[in-house]
Amino acid sequence: MDIKITKTTAPKAKPPVDSLGFGVYFTDHMFVMDYTKGNGWHDPQILPYGPIPMDPSCAVLHYGQAVFEGLKAYRTADNQVLLFRPYNNMNRINESNERLCIPQIDVDFAVEAIKKLVKIDQDWIPDAPGTALYIRPFIFAADPFLGVHPASTYKFIVILSPVGAYYKEGLNPVKIYVEDSYVRAVRGGMGFSKTAGNYAASLKAQEEAEKKGYTQVLWLDGVERKYIEEVGAMNIFFKIDGKVVTPALNGSILAGITRNSCLEILNSWGIDAKEAKISIQEVYEAYENGKLEEVFGTGTAAVISPVGELCWNGKKITINNGEIGPISQKLYDTITGLQSGKLEDTFNYTVKL
Ligand SMILES: *Cc1c(COP(=O)(O)O)cnc(C)c1O
Repeated sequence: MDIKITKTTAPKAKPPVDSLGFGVYFTDHMFVMDYTKGNGWHDPQILPYGPIPMDPSCAVLHYGQAVFEGLKAYRTADNQVLLFRPYNNMNRINESNERLCIPQIDVDFAVEAIKKLVKIDQDWIPDAPGTALYIRPFIFAADPFLGVHPASTYKFIVILSPVGAYYKEGLNPVKIYVEDSYVRAVRGGMGFSKTAGNYAASLKAQEEAEKKGYTQVLWLDGVERKYIEEVGAMNIFFKIDGKVVTPALNGSILAGITRNSCLEILNSWGIDAKEAKISIQEVYEAYENGKLEEVFGTGTAAVISPVGELCWNGKKITINNGEIGPISQKLYDTITGLQSGKLEDTFNYTVKL
């Protein structure tokens, strides 16, 4: 399929780099492709970024049949552009698609479309340390129809947003509230999919945790409220007695690409890092025995987010004196080093534009 390109006649001014934040500004162009039953995916286009026409009866607005992805393009010191594991993102959107009855996309074509779009808007990729161009591909049900049924028309869109450095002065440990009443997802549900509804389900607990002074919520399993799942936009890792563990994928946890990279990198260093079913009780016991060494979250936005405090059932624990631990710091330096081209990519994670 050829991508039809229509360039903007009114390019926007680039925002100042220190005002970027996350997901506030969008570039000049977007990628749009349509799906119709019988016709498949067709009419791929790159066109000026702007509003999309939508009928008030549009299926996604009523029943939430929607999936998305998030990845970043990084500018290297010698002015190349690198994407971090984009094929993993497009394979994962197909796994989400499968769960939500959305038709599969062609992974290679989607990565090519993303590359083409990023190339057209490459002047928007900031070059200050820690900044990047965030890439948001998403697909939604587009039928103007109120029947509860998988739609027969869909739109696949990719938008781009220059984003600022997540950490301006070193990696700041976050305080996390262990949620024991609300749940995000259950096995058999959509927890492993990157879908809008999972985020809608998380807002209430997030809001209450923020009121108590916590930045994020750590979700427990939806049945027993015993086993650790994830943070909702991040996966979670624990370093206990020299070994690293992250909750095993069980259907209600999202298979983060940063999570997978951390497991591979840790094992390449000879550190015992594995996936296992782990309870919040075990983590608190490790703390009491002086064996809880580090806790950190992993995700595209922050890469590594050290956890300085956990609160579960009214019991607060401080991890590593509220400071970032050596493994968290080394993982952060390594992954951001690969992304920015500073380190040689022996893992084959990066893709050049
Ligand atoms: C996107 C996401 C993550 C992090 O995944 P990465 O691929 O590492 O960015 C973790 N949990 C949830 C629920 C997510 O949506």
